[in-house]
Amino acid sequence: MAFIAVQEQIDYGTPEGMLQLTILSAFAAYFSDTLAKHTSKGKAERAAQGLPNGDLPFGYRSAGPKNPPEIDPETHPGLRMIGELRMQGRTSEEIADALNGAGYRTGSKRFGQRLFTRDTVNAILRNEFYAAFAPGDDRGTIRYKGRRFRGQHQATFTYEEWQQIRTITASMQRAPGRARLARRVYEFAGYIVCAHCGLPLRSKPGARPTSSYYRDPAKLRQLPCPLGGHRMVKAEVVQQQFGQLLESIRLPENWQDEIRKQLTTLALEEAGRRAPEQEKERLLGKRARLVKLYSEGYLSVRDFEAEVAAVDLALYQLEQPVLAGISWEEIQQAAAQLPQIRHLWERATTEERRAWVIQLLEPQGLYYDLEQQMIAAITPRPSFAALFLQGGAFHASENKEAVGLLVTKRWRKRNRRASVSPTTECAGPAELPTGLAFPARIKCTPSPPSHTPPRPVRASLGPRGRSM
Ligand SMILES: [Zn+2]
Repeated sequence: MAFIAVQEQIDYGTPEGMLQLTILSAFAAYFSDTLAKHTSKGKAERAAQGLPNGDLPFGYRSAGPKNPPEIDPETHPGLRMIGELRMQGRTSEEIADALNGAGYRTGSKRFGQRLFTRDTVNAILRNEFYAAFAPGDDRGTIRYKGRRFRGQHQATFTYEEWQQIRTITASMQRAPGRARLARRVYEFAGYIVCAHCGLPLRSKPGARPTSSYYRDPAKLRQLPCPLGGHRMVKAEVVQQQFGQLLESIRLPENWQDEIRKQLTTLALEEAGRRAPEQEKERLLGKRARLVKLYSEGYLSVRDFEAEVAAVDLALYQLEQPVLAGISWEEIQQAAAQLPQIRHLWERATTEERRAWVIQLLEPQGLYYDLEQQMIAAITPRPSFAALFLQGGAFHASENKEAVGLLVTKRWRKRNRRASVSPTTECAGPAELPTGLAFPARIKCTPSPPSHTPPRPVRASLGPRGRSM
């Protein structure tokens, strides 16, 4: 069998032909490599400059090859609509129908005007181009070879909106039938403890997935529990009650101001300084004096810049208070997530709920009253704690031994009336059963309970670790 390269007229059957072919293909490979290198160099350069490569994204129009795309007033409202409908939890099919109904069409050079489909909606909701590059930034994002660049174009969705869109999208994209595979996952395994003895409840499979239980292991392990240490609760019941608890958290209109005020005051108390308003005034005064000194020639440029930078940093920290390692930014992230988790809790799979539990709670952070069959208290992750408190479903516990413990109002009320065999020799708030104050198994020793949660893993909440 002989190959003849038609264009080059080579007789592959002869040694000369073979040589020629080898040389030609080497050249071809060389040119194709250099071409690719040049192209990708051009693309990388464009990305680094914050300019997109390839087709114009829906909702934007070209403003010339060297300029960033600009918002297209005709299609941009449709783009916002896609994001807003997703934030409301609507499926891609529903969104496509809504857009087609409103008269929007996707346009491309290759295919012309077309109707929206599930796939086009999904592609748009995956495209980071539309998302603000960072919190508070109004510029979009360019992604090139796995790296993110700050775009020159205007973003369509704020950073927080994009996080919401991604959270909801991720929770909707589950393979059909996967939920029915009876792989047993317990939402609260390792997180639920007996409110009376403080021992982690054991997950216990039932005959059907819906009849799984959490069970107090105290009796089996021959450890003391005021309730006898053998009671159980249906996993499904805990899941529903936790959903109701989330549902009952309604952030007041001014929650941002409130939490910020609390944080700032606490941060200043921690630092042993004065109230935020006074501190801000003092810093601004100092800044003004520095400017005066500099303008009168008493300060060198270098000293002036260093001093002013220090004052500005202090002012910035005043605006962005950090308490116990939790920044204002992280609380805002948490606040953006909370409504979505609440909204989707019932519809989510066990695995998804499990992931949220890990995000929301400290390990062993759900105290369950097995007698009254209700959630007694929780220890949220620090970034969620302030939000939960603002939501009004909880009392903060004054118990110094369990920092961050939030007791549910409902349980506290019930517990005042009910007789929960209180072990009165234990110190701590009278309304709390022993497990919440000091686990009975350590017999009221005033040392911190062994289930004191470790410090949270900050990466699990930060925007940096999240994949888009
Ligand atoms: Zn117990």
